[in-house]
Amino acid sequence: MKNQSIIIKQGKNKGKTLAIFAGVHGNEVTGIRALDRAIESINIDTGKVYFVYANPKAIFKGARFIEKNLNRLFFNGNNGNTEEDMRARELMKILDECDVLLDLHATNSNDGEPFIICEKTGFDFAQTLAFPIISTGWALIEQNSTDGYMYKNGKQAFCLECGSIKATDKYLPLALQSIYQFLSYFGSITTQTSVELVPKRFVRAEKIIYKKTERFKFIKEFHDFELLEEGMVFANDDNISYSAEKDECIIFARPHAILGTEACIIAKMDIT
Ligand SMILES: [Zn+2]
Repeated sequence: MKNQSIIIKQGKNKGKTLAIFAGVHGNEVTGIRALDRAIESINIDTGKVYFVYANPKAIFKGARFIEKNLNRLFFNGNNGNTEEDMRARELMKILDECDVLLDLHATNSNDGEPFIICEKTGFDFAQTLAFPIISTGWALIEQNSTDGYMYKNGKQAFCLECGSIKATDKYLPLALQSIYQFLSYFGSITTQTSVELVPKRFVRAEKIIYKKTERFKFIKEFHDFELLEEGMVFANDDNISYSAEKDECIIFARPHAILGTEACIIAKMDIT
């Protein structure tokens, strides 16, 4: 990470204002390293670009967050007093100025394919990224995330889940290439980026399951996008049993989630 957590680069020509965030979760190093390289190597021709290390204290500690998950704090009227609330307010001012956001994440799962979170309005760009999965619906089920905040304001955002946090070296080139493609697609740089078209699967996030009691338990360890058999009970929480409907899959299964927070996301395969 650089000394400053917010770096602005301005082009000679008038154009869009963009933001690239990394380290909203401080332990997701792939995006943070990609941002380091992008800041060193990219000059902006058109418009203005904010390069943002979103949660510098968490990045410094190598922790997901310090007090609160920053990616749940992007909403008007946030008057919380944790480090993350204050940072969210600062970052919302930047987002209010921006037309489009690229937000680099990595998954806390042990493995799993990289995927894009965006809504249909962003498909043209998302199709050009070398990611195998495009996942929609998140802006509706989680409106207080960075991308949810952008969509609430009628804008576009792309969250890139750049593989597992344990596979930084493997996915760093993908994260960096995606930054170049983003800046090229939205007109900030004139450098042509080579696009390798990767076949896509579409998955729509439908609901969040929260950990209601300390007795919450998954029946087994799940991979991201693992298809659940129809009718199968995949988790129990005290006296509640969660069972799957047809074509449902599971994302971000967190057996050790903090009480009251998300234990997993349930999504439908092959629809937008
Ligand atoms: Zn993240």
